[in-house]
Amino acid sequence: MKKHNFNAGPSILPRVAIENAAKAILDFEGSGLSLLEISHRTKDFEAVNNEAMALFRELLNIPDNYKILFLGGGASTQFFEVPYNFLEKKAGYVNTGVWAKKAIKEAKNFGEVQVLASSEDKNFTYIPKGYAIPTDLDYLHITTNNTIYGTEYHTDIDSPVPVIADMSSDILSRPVDVSKYGMIYGGAQKNIGPAGVTFVIVREDLLGKVSRPLPSMVDYRNHIANDSMFNTPPVFAIYVVKETLKWLKSIGGVKEIQKRNRAKAELLYDAIDNSKVFVGTAVKEDRSLMNVCFVMQEKYADLAPEFLEFAKGKGMVGIKGHRLVGGFRASIYNALPIESVQALVDCMREFEKMHV
Ligand code: PMP
Repeated sequence: MKKHNFNAGPSILPRVAIENAAKAILDFEGSGLSLLEISHRTKDFEAVNNEAMALFRELLNIPDNYKILFLGGGASTQFFEVPYNFLEKKAGYVNTGVWAKKAIKEAKNFGEVQVLASSEDKNFTYIPKGYAIPTDLDYLHITTNNTIYGTEYHTDIDSPVPVIADMSSDILSRPVDVSKYGMIYGGAQKNIGPAGVTFVIVREDLLGKVSRPLPSMVDYRNHIANDSMFNTPPVFAIYVVKETLKWLKSIGGVKEIQKRNRAKAELLYDAIDNSKVFVGTAVKEDRSLMNVCFVMQEKYADLAPEFLEFAKGKGMVGIKGHRLVGGFRASIYNALPIESVQALVDCMREFEKMHV
């Protein structure tokens, strides 16, 4: 039976990237060695690293004064590396869910943190807007897509201070005006590649302003000076990133993927909005194009386990909602084909017919 992969992350990747990675594990570029057993300092791997960075720059239209890094540690490590490098006195954070909260917790170890706005009052079902951004902040931190709650910023916000954005779960899903950000970061394991590599896009002139001493591995300048090879980078993960970005370019880049992502989300949200059994959890204008969260309508609440079993029987994988929200979450990242969304919609309609 065909599986439809709605996992929230690590999640579906383009088939061609997986196939090419499998080949490279057996024989890397005809070297007679596996990708897993070569030095990151070989010419062939340096070429992979450079191509991944060049593709990222091209696809997201990253200006030259921004540097791209591929690091270890996940987005969670960036939660403390960001304030380490940028927080001198005071930073502003917007609390849009679990990941934002974790970032706030880490930042508090380094200076004053002002939570400028929060959507916690409604279980993070919306993106706060219209709050004032003080001009004396070192930076403003936002989470552009809230993986657990299915809310997303659909525009690049205006701010008088540098915006630092966790884009773990919506990077490369739409065009972004990178010049409106001081830094963008995230774990790769949704739209860019496998787990094990973290991307950082940073405006170089913002670095080196804090007075505290920085451990070498934390100081972004050391990674920039060494093209992300200050220490051993996650070689295999970077190879898969390169292949995933090549695929994205081959299908027409971020403009094309945005079109596809919109079509997929519309298909699924329409089905939810027109359902007598299911109901969406996020406020319509802030609904994520990446993570579609929904629950059973109250009258049918008891049917949730039955629907999960039913959907599993139809090949649906990973649609159980995060334990903090319950219900269902279908993650429909870049590499998920619309056919899988259609299969889920068909499955929901069939289930509804059985019960309404
Ligand atoms: N931020 C967001 C928005 C996420 O979705 C996640 C992981 N799902 C993280 C941060 C944490 O990433 P990591 O596991 O790479 O530390």
